[in-house]
Amino acid sequence: MTDTDPTDRPTRELDEAIRSDALDCVMCGICVPHCPTFSLTRNEADGPRGRISQLLGISQGGLAPDADVTRHLDTCLTCRACEAVCPSGVAYGRLIDNGRARLAQEPNPAARPKPTARHWRWLRDQLLTRRRRLGVAWQLYRLVQRLGLGGIARRLAGPVGRALPRHAPGPISRRTRLPVAPTTRGRVGLFVGCTGAAMNANAVAAARTAIAAFGYEVVEPAGQGCCGAMHAHGGEPGEANRRREANAAVFKATGVEAVVVVGTACAAELGALADSHDITVCEITDWLLARDKEEWPQVAHLDYRVAVHTPCSQRNHLRQPEATRQLLASIPGLELLEIDGNARCCGAAGMQVLLYPEQAEELREPKLESIERLAPDVVVSANVGCATHLAAGANLTVRQPVELLAESILAARP
Ligand code: SF4
Ligand code: SF4
Repeated sequence: MTDTDPTDRPTRELDEAIRSDALDCVMCGICVPHCPTFSLTRNEADGPRGRISQLLGISQGGLAPDADVTRHLDTCLTCRACEAVCPSGVAYGRLIDNGRARLAQEPNPAARPKPTARHWRWLRDQLLTRRRRLGVAWQLYRLVQRLGLGGIARRLAGPVGRALPRHAPGPISRRTRLPVAPTTRGRVGLFVGCTGAAMNANAVAAARTAIAAFGYEVVEPAGQGCCGAMHAHGGEPGEANRRREANAAVFKATGVEAVVVVGTACAAELGALADSHDITVCEITDWLLARDKEEWPQVAHLDYRVAVHTPCSQRNHLRQPEATRQLLASIPGLELLEIDGNARCCGAAGMQVLLYPEQAEELREPKLESIERLAPDVVVSANVGCATHLAAGANLTVRQPVELLAESILAARP
């Protein structure tokens, strides 16, 4: 075993888990045309069926992983579009996560997944998953932009610069926090994620506003941390599990009735706690949609044409493809527009946008073209990673659906 993650499962155990899932695949190929990476290369090895074959070969000892094999597996976006259409119920998401954990244990460094390299792990663990540090870095980037140097900063900062939005949105309004109601319907915990003081700060503020307007007390425990998604999909399931468990302990101690998560990818990751800890975990859009009619506050008319982006984590992981549209349908005046190819991953996919920027940008291009054709007033996406990736490719700001709801609630107040 390498120094990748000392809490990982032993290789033999991983091989057994991979074999068991891979043998569910009957190699029918129905999933292949739905795969975004296959659509780019037309190489079977870059599609789900090919990846399953490679993983099966590795787990049975018949295929020795090398840099080529690892690249085919590594470029998978874990979008799970293949899993959503598979008639045999192959648990592809679990399979590829186990596959990467298995490859992370390879003695040959060239055969290990890219995110396990020391510099990528440093970036992830020292900046991307540290909310305060990321918030400071975001404020610095906004300052650089105000000085007119944003383009230079983006060019000089390598893949990180390429992934930064062209316009870093600042706080929309400082007066978004509603007073706590004298009697509340309940208490919920708010999971703000690593980007909650940076790219997602407006969405977090909007979530506070919306939850309070529905009559609930919002609890934000200081000890909450990264959900572990980047570790789970980057070959370090042990570390991902440790982070999930730490969040479970923090939120359980507050006694809240539900953990409301701002962001579909984090919600999908923390969803596992529902089984292991009897904790209700709900993505903010889903939580709002689950409120009874009498809990709804007054909402005002918003005269926007809104292009809706559906993240894979919302469509395929949480299996709530209509949630954003359903929430926005409750705001009078909005005209909802569909971005072409919404069922296909935009390429952001957690750290993939940094690890494989060319692939990420190629997959983003048709979406940006569609947005340009639609010429909406607002683009929405329920996942901050997708929102940031889209905004890095064009002069647009991408907002979370809850931001529009909060705006509508505030506009309805005297
Ligand atoms: S993963 Fe499912 S859809 Fe794809 S080839 Fe295997 S059985 Fe067919
Ligand atoms: S998860 Fe997405 S990128 Fe990976 S094989 Fe399935 S469809 Fe292709």
